[in-house]
Amino acid sequence: DLFQELKFRDPARARALAAALQHNVDAIGREVSVMHVCGSHEQAIARFGLRAVLPAGLNLIMGPGCPVCVTDGPEVDEAVALAMQGVRVCTYGDMLRLRGTAKSLADAHADGGKVEVVYSVAQAIELAQKSPGEEVVFFASGFETTAVATAAVALARPPPNFSILSVHKYVPAAMEIVAESKETNIEGYVAAGHAAIITGWEIFEPFARRTGAPVVVAGFEPLDILAALVKLTELMKEKRAEVANVYPRCVTKEGNRAAQASLWKVFRTTTGKWRGIAEVPGGNLDLTPAFAHVDARRRFAIDTRPVRDEGAEEEAKGCICGSIMLGLATPNDCALFGKTCVPESPVGACMVSSEGQCRIWHTYGGVP
Ligand code: SF4
Repeated sequence: DLFQELKFRDPARARALAAALQHNVDAIGREVSVMHVCGSHEQAIARFGLRAVLPAGLNLIMGPGCPVCVTDGPEVDEAVALAMQGVRVCTYGDMLRLRGTAKSLADAHADGGKVEVVYSVAQAIELAQKSPGEEVVFFASGFETTAVATAAVALARPPPNFSILSVHKYVPAAMEIVAESKETNIEGYVAAGHAAIITGWEIFEPFARRTGAPVVVAGFEPLDILAALVKLTELMKEKRAEVANVYPRCVTKEGNRAAQASLWKVFRTTTGKWRGIAEVPGGNLDLTPAFAHVDARRRFAIDTRPVRDEGAEEEAKGCICGSIMLGLATPNDCALFGKTCVPESPVGACMVSSEGQCRIWHTYGGVP
């Protein structure tokens, strides 16, 4: 059984899965597009050159799977304003060079603002404990998986000088936007295994029923992804809008109920703008009123006027990140890719983050 006990990088199994995939796509008999929504999946696909073994009729597209890339300019402005107001802003390294409407946190640091890179929210808590006379804000980015760690800290009585500026995002809401788009023609989805460890695979059932597109939950090894594509094309071939889980070693139907309880105690979904994409109903995770005491937006009067550019375009001239994240273009379609836009001097958000598609393709190559 190809879906059982995968030896994750075994060439013989890879060949068998590629043949099964070809068989399914041949049986469908026309070109089809499927989407994954995860930077880690794209890293594995590009790093192992998986697109090279896909059938010609199968387009594997990355959707809005990079939480840094979709953090909106005005959200970055809030963190920059806080840093310039004398608050110590801690964040993950990927967020440092992400531009707001005018400045990034790296710019704020160069201008004398207090900015600290941390590897975890726990490290931000340590900083707050070490400096009790100073306000420390954790600029919290990432999808629901990362939000669980932020929620755990909020629930564990953090020090009184610690608070959270949440720009956490909720992936299922973005899948709805892609599915509703008339321009994309996505017929099936590969869902991220790490998020599904928390949410369980059943969370995708209403989506599959409503959109008519099957969803397969996948792990991050090359054979996990190939197995997911085989299963997905099988469901598409049989016109079954169902959810399948080819990552059973980690993901269950119901997920981690304790983590879900923590997440929804601390956060609630709200409508928020995703950079380059749209207003996403239910796409942002804000702190609930019960956690107002750790909510930086309630604790501080954040004045972004001195750091924002009212007339700023959402994307830099020539940057097509929004189209890339919606699956309408690839980095190869951008005239700046690898020329004026490189990881050392990124023009757009998709080149800033290690989970952005432009950055990944620049590192590993994209379509051979
Ligand atoms: Fe934007 Fe750079 Fe990607 Fe082009 S290569 S879409 S400029 S991030």
